[in-house]
Amino acid sequence: MKCKVCKADAVVSLPSHNTAFCKEHFTKFYLKLVSEGIRKRSLLERDDKVLVALSGGKDSLGLMYALSELGYDVTGLHIDLGIFESSQKARAVVEDFCRDKGYPLKVVELEKEGVPMPLIKKHIRRPICSICGKFKRHYFNKVALEDGYTALATGHNLDDEVARLFANTLRWDQAYLSDQGPVLPAENGFAKKVKPLFRVSEFESANFSFLMGIPYHHLPCPYSGGASFTGHKLLWRDLELRSPGSKRAFYKGFLDRGQPAFAAIAQDEKSNEVKPCIECGCPTSAVTCNVCRLKEQLRQSIEESGK
Ligand code: SF4
Ligand code: ZN
Ligand code: ZN
Repeated sequence: MKCKVCKADAVVSLPSHNTAFCKEHFTKFYLKLVSEGIRKRSLLERDDKVLVALSGGKDSLGLMYALSELGYDVTGLHIDLGIFESSQKARAVVEDFCRDKGYPLKVVELEKEGVPMPLIKKHIRRPICSICGKFKRHYFNKVALEDGYTALATGHNLDDEVARLFANTLRWDQAYLSDQGPVLPAENGFAKKVKPLFRVSEFESANFSFLMGIPYHHLPCPYSGGASFTGHKLLWRDLELRSPGSKRAFYKGFLDRGQPAFAAIAQDEKSNEVKPCIECGCPTSAVTCNVCRLKEQLRQSIEESGK
């Protein structure tokens, strides 16, 4: 197969776009997908100070690299979850990557915050991934606001977004459907959140990181027993094989026609007043935020168990 642009041998074939590219033209195509997405859906302004959440996976590192190549002011943020070897490896990959590329990096260590995930897992009997997600979102937002960043970017790609949208649609979850999209504006004490890879498939993201020589962390988290959305991603993979472009069309249709309709309904029903948490100042609709309540639960459990 030949590159659509220069007719050299292609290294990536993209049936969903009905095309193929050599390395140079795939890189240009990828960066254009990202920059056009940012512009068309108004994700970022040129003067935004962007904090990029870096897990150590291919998507987040590729996103950091792409935003930097596109000229944005980027700083990485890694949350060290304290999950044994898996977290050590992830952190090392992120630190090496940022050092090599000369990107500024901030690290939050949950061990130092007194809430490493293994300790939480031992004391709090609730699904660990949901708690882990709450802590990650809490610290992303806290660092973004306290350190003056105007946008928080995450590496969710098109496959992640479609799987999430599909799950929300299967439940007709109005609240989530009204909020889902590549940009959530800053409001009520929350920083602006953007997902600049929303037009990039997992396959395209993996190819970009591979071709750019970006190393990434792939030691699975020991707590990831059957990661959410995996089943939905498999269904979509089959659908995409039968009908290339379905994922893109499904998500674009939602952004153009579905999301605005759900947002209009939610606007009428919005009643929850958001106030600063009395403990940490982060936004919450209760008196103390989720994370402070979990910290208190952990403290009590440790006290009761005597260790
Ligand atoms: Fe956190 Fe669960 Fe992911 Fe492990 S698998 S990093 S516990 S969300
Ligand atoms: Zn080419
Ligand atoms: Zn709090």
